[in-house]
Amino acid sequence: MTREARKPKQQQFRKKKKRPCVFCIDQKELDYKDISYVKRFMTDRGKIAPRRMSGCCALHQRMVAKAVKRARQIGLAPYVVD
Ligand SMILES: [Zn+2]
Repeated sequence: MTREARKPKQQQFRKKKKRPCVFCIDQKELDYKDISYVKRFMTDRGKIAPRRMSGCCALHQRMVAKAVKRARQIGLAPYVVD
């Protein structure tokens, strides 16, 4: 591969088309009492999954974070996992 044939960096690392957020598709809200579903948006250490893991849009990521925090407060979800 010659130097001239090389593509510029922006084209080399093309972004994959982002999957739309699960809550945007189904138009549903996350219930903080539904702990098995809330746990999907937590890491194995008990942290709230970042957007790159959860795949949520900004609006629904905030909703997820709120649901996890509520679940923690009523004792359904852990604050930390050792
Ligand atoms: Zn969304």
